[in-house]
Amino acid sequence: MRLGRERPSQNIEDRRGMGGGFGMPGGGMRIPIGGRGGIGIGGIIVLLLLWLVFGINPLELLSGGGGVQIPRQTQTQTRTGEVANDQTTDFVARVLGSTERVWAEKFQAMGRRYDPPTLVLFSGAVQSACGMAQAAMGPFYCPPDQKVYIDLSFFEEMASRFGASGDFAQAYVVAHEVGHHVQNLFGTADKVTQARMQAPETEANDLSVRMELQADCYAGVWAKSADDSAQILEAGDIEEGLNAATAIGDDRLQKRSQGYAVPESFTHGSSEQRVRWFKRGLDTGDMNQCETFKAQPL
Ligand SMILES: [Zn+2]
Repeated sequence: MRLGRERPSQNIEDRRGMGGGFGMPGGGMRIPIGGRGGIGIGGIIVLLLLWLVFGINPLELLSGGGGVQIPRQTQTQTRTGEVANDQTTDFVARVLGSTERVWAEKFQAMGRRYDPPTLVLFSGAVQSACGMAQAAMGPFYCPPDQKVYIDLSFFEEMASRFGASGDFAQAYVVAHEVGHHVQNLFGTADKVTQARMQAPETEANDLSVRMELQADCYAGVWAKSADDSAQILEAGDIEEGLNAATAIGDDRLQKRSQGYAVPESFTHGSSEQRVRWFKRGLDTGDMNQCETFKAQPL
């Protein structure tokens, strides 16, 4: 990617090395996941919310198995607060800055104002308005605090465990989470969360898939629009993105973790669906093409 023309976002909160649960002003709820004898109600809320997140099937977390649970070493870090000037941080800041530029334009064209999300960098575990989250759950967007949470070591895991490498693969992850923020601003997130709570499981999963595929499509819309105006894409980038979308399809992840795929339990969509919707956004740059809730078949 070429991000030289994109301005790094200022909406980054660096909580790496702070540990989870600290530095949360205003007495935010602290709800640990796990603990003795079960995951507790707070944990369930977190898992429900994480239903929305990238690559994670809460059922796998609940059952304690699953291919997306990633053991990691304890990290000891001393940095606090300030945004470190390392390469990956700069990259993420520019991708985020690019999404801000693109979505601000699109919202303005609709007569609306784009209120950008904050991106929180963390290591190990983090406190969010959605509860306490572990890095092993992958990046996620928390609608109540309008923040995207990401542990940058996820990018290494994407490359080593899922075979999804390359800078555009990483940008797709960030843009997908920002896509959830766009859904939140449009009220889609609220509607879907409510509908899902009342629906039987298969239907709830279907809604989740539609939500995720729309976020994929929005990620494509961003990439196309950013490329049109700031030429961010280089040869091979599109392939990296599509490869990443393939690698994190539910069928692929389930086959890895349990040897077979159960389509009714999908919460993010199959590899083919993720690629197709990402590509639709990427081909058109038009968010009106991302009507996953109306698409039949999906
Ligand atoms: Zn998602």
